[in-house]
This record gives sequence, C-alpha cells and structure tokens, in this order.
Amino acid sequence: MYIWHTLTVGHLSRNKFWGESNDVAYRAPLATSTLLLGHGEVIVADPSLPGAAMEKALLDAAGLSLADVTLVFSTHNHLDHHVDPLCFPNARWLMPRVDLTYLHEHWDEHKRSFPGDDWEAVQRCEIAGDEIAPELFVVPLPGHTAGTSGLRFCAPEGRVLLTGDAVMTREFYKAGEPYFFGWDNDLAKQTIARLRGTADVLIPGHGEPFLTRAWE
Ligand SMILES: [Zn+2]
Repeated sequence: MYIWHTLTVGHLSRNKFWGESNDVAYRAPLATSTLLLGHGEVIVADPSLPGAAMEKALLDAAGLSLADVTLVFSTHNHLDHHVDPLCFPNARWLMPRVDLTYLHEHWDEHKRSFPGDDWEAVQRCEIAGDEIAPELFVVPLPGHTAGTSGLRFCAPEGRVLLTGDAVMTREFYKAGEPYFFGWDNDLAKQTIARLRGTADVLIPGHGEPFLTRAWE
C-alpha cells in the first residue's frame, strides 16, 4: 500500500480538447509529478520542477525535504519528465530500459528534440526493474515512446496506475486518443484501450489524477 500526493498538476503546451490547435504552443508544458510513500521508500515519479521549486513542493505536500527522497522514476525519456533528477542527494534515478537505452544510443537525435537535456545527468540514470520497490510495479505502456512505462500500486483509493504520457489527461483517456505526436500512435491508442478496467484511479502524464469510472 502506498500513500500518494500530487506534487505538480501537469498541463500540455496545447490541448485540442480545449479547442486549441496542435500547430501552436500556447504555454510551456508541465508534467504531472507524484510523490509515493510506502515500505520505507519516498519516491518521486516524473520530477517536473527545478530543485528549489521541488524542495518547496515536497515540503508543502508532505513536510519532506529533497534529502528524504530515496527513488526517482521517469516514465519515459522526455525532458519534461526529468527536469532536475539529481536534485535529490540520496536518491537513485530510474527509467525504463528501452527509453534509457535510446538515450545512450541516439543522444544526438534526442538533443535535437530536447536541447536542454544533460548527458552527464543521463549517465547517472539506471534501468528500472519490474518492481522498483515492494509492491510497486513497472508496467510497459508503449506508444508515446517505445519504452514508456507506468507504475502500478495499491492505495487507500484502490488500484492506482500512474501512466506518464501513455495517457495525457482525462479527456484524452475518455476519447481513447494519444497526443498529436508520438513514437507510434497506433500502438499508443492500443495501449489506452488495453488499460481500461485495470485501475480505479489513473494519474496521467499532463493532468489531474481522476477516477477511471468517471471518465470511461
Ligand atoms: Zn512525453
């Protein structure tokens, strides 16, 4: 069982469900960042803030400090999901194997899409196993990137699935649609269809957590 807190409610640079065009960036994107507490672990999923802002978010959400964090997990290799992953002095930083391997093998290509990313930081990232902490399972949700993976855990609310960008927001979940860009959007669509009925609460990549039964 894990207790969880939302550290940042993410948003998208453009959201077609708000009538926005996919051709315009209306705002800088922000990923949803989540804190999980359980089994003696303090886990930050998809760290979306620079260190000083993350320090404040942890203090405000749970009275914790950067030094309390034991694990950091990025759902995939896009930069908005690892903004300052080494700001936690006592934490290991983990990423799904396929996406971390991509960074090592295609760094120049990645840098063209994410010029702000830092090779030295990426070299300290480790491959996430199937269970990164007791009863905290890594679930492959491919499509947005080849390796995008979520976290599955039990909480007082029931079965929770943190999806990263496999599901952008509750509107995208309801429509069964991926974002306008992605590694393989047909696969991304299949992934959304496949995860229906598997969780009571879903934590999407760029929006508020929601009850799945309210958005199906
Ligand atoms: Zn992404």
